[in-house]
Amino acid sequence: MNKIAVAGTGYVGLVAGVCFAEVGHNVICVDIDKEKIDKLKAGISPIFEAGLESLLKKNILDGRIDFTTDYQQAYKDADAIFLGVGTPENEDGSANLSHIATVAREIAESIEKDCLVVVKSTVPVGTNHKVEQFINDFLKNEVKVEVASNPEFLAQGSAVHDTLFAQRIVIGTESDWAENILTEIYKPFNLPIVSVSRNSAEMIKYASNDFLALKISYMNDIANLCELTGADIQDVSRGMSFDDRIGNKFLNAGIGYGGSCFPKDTKALEYLARNNNYELKTVKAAIDVNEEQKTVLYKKASNRLITFNGLKVAILGLTFKPGTDDLREAPSLKNVPLLLAEGANIFAFDPIGTKNFREIYPEGAHGKGTITYVEDVEVALQGANVCLIFTEWPEVKSVSPETYKSLMRTPLVYDGRNIYELKDMEVSEVEYYSIGRPPINKGGIRETKTYEKLKARI
Ligand code: NAD
Repeated sequence: MNKIAVAGTGYVGLVAGVCFAEVGHNVICVDIDKEKIDKLKAGISPIFEAGLESLLKKNILDGRIDFTTDYQQAYKDADAIFLGVGTPENEDGSANLSHIATVAREIAESIEKDCLVVVKSTVPVGTNHKVEQFINDFLKNEVKVEVASNPEFLAQGSAVHDTLFAQRIVIGTESDWAENILTEIYKPFNLPIVSVSRNSAEMIKYASNDFLALKISYMNDIANLCELTGADIQDVSRGMSFDDRIGNKFLNAGIGYGGSCFPKDTKALEYLARNNNYELKTVKAAIDVNEEQKTVLYKKASNRLITFNGLKVAILGLTFKPGTDDLREAPSLKNVPLLLAEGANIFAFDPIGTKNFREIYPEGAHGKGTITYVEDVEVALQGANVCLIFTEWPEVKSVSPETYKSLMRTPLVYDGRNIYELKDMEVSEVEYYSIGRPPINKGGIRETKTYEKLKARI
């Protein structure tokens, strides 16, 4: 393969580009964001992903990867052009394909030789076919263009690993020519390839993501029922996990899925079904459960406290999961405005996500409440009235139960990620509420303190 161009240097495009270079291809990455391109040219990754920046630097030095905003130069003599641009959701839940259309138009106007266009972005079934028509409609030069589907399955936080050691590569093609080019590109990865039609490849992506979203919502639904009936979701999921038919992954209850994929991909598939006069009941249910689950900690804490007004609220973790600085659809973004509206004084800790969160909520006053960003968990907890755990970062998991007891004004902890053993919180006299497990020391701490105070007075 002489030259691969990649459109879009986000999580998917950049990681794909860097990994293609790493296995020996000659890669040029295009983005409309000049600031991003300048950073990338200097070997700086605009996103946080383990191992990405070092591979980026290495491949720049080896001359296998370059970055540009000049799409014409990048596309005109490329053998294959991968699309990794965003497909965010429209208000009605459908996928917004405007970035895909823009790149398709740019490709049509730029290419000067036969070229395979590969859609890596997640797109509704039938989109590859439309993109091919669209490019051919606008084609400037007499060249052959085909479109192939190659959906991406990486998870943020382990994107480089997931690409270099993917469990499978799915390619959707409509000709031997396209299939051979993609097989050749992926040969150096030495990974299993599933070769299907374009429509099936597009559906595999949605069906996979939505299945995982369903699994999460199912466990959260069961967790809520566990709380009402006195069962413990962690025991339940452990008991389930031995069954090969169920599998042992994605069985953790929590405060719902976030990120740039599951929320929009569930909505897009549900929309696609609706558009085809079909009601996709299972996926609809997953979406509903997830919406409710995101604010479950806030609701529980609201029941326990009269008001958040004037309270110091420690928030541990802002990103939708550890290992990424991405905040898209993070549960924190649903809870913070509710807390601020009630007049909470938030002290937020996140090892990587605060920079992006600050851009949405600058430090200082917001209506009745305030938000302060801290670099130490201890500073967030010092004198806090309540603590909400949104992300299971290692820095959060390593906080001992005694730390809550000794630093907080009232050791009242709401844990959305079930990171503590109940018995440890019990022994440390922390009033602890988690997901799908019984509350610990419910109201007990305050009673003990009052009792101690009374005793001291006597
Ligand atoms: P992103 O928003 O991080 O990156 C998209 C990039 O495309 C941005 O840098 C943007 O500036 C650039 N762009 C927009 N228009 C462009 C144009 N005309 N030419 C060149 N660049 C342009 O998006 P992402 O998270 O990488 O997702 C991309 C696609 O991959 C989406 O369809 C998403 O659903 C899918 N996907 C994402 C993940 C994930 O974990 N993020 C995983 C699998 C699949």
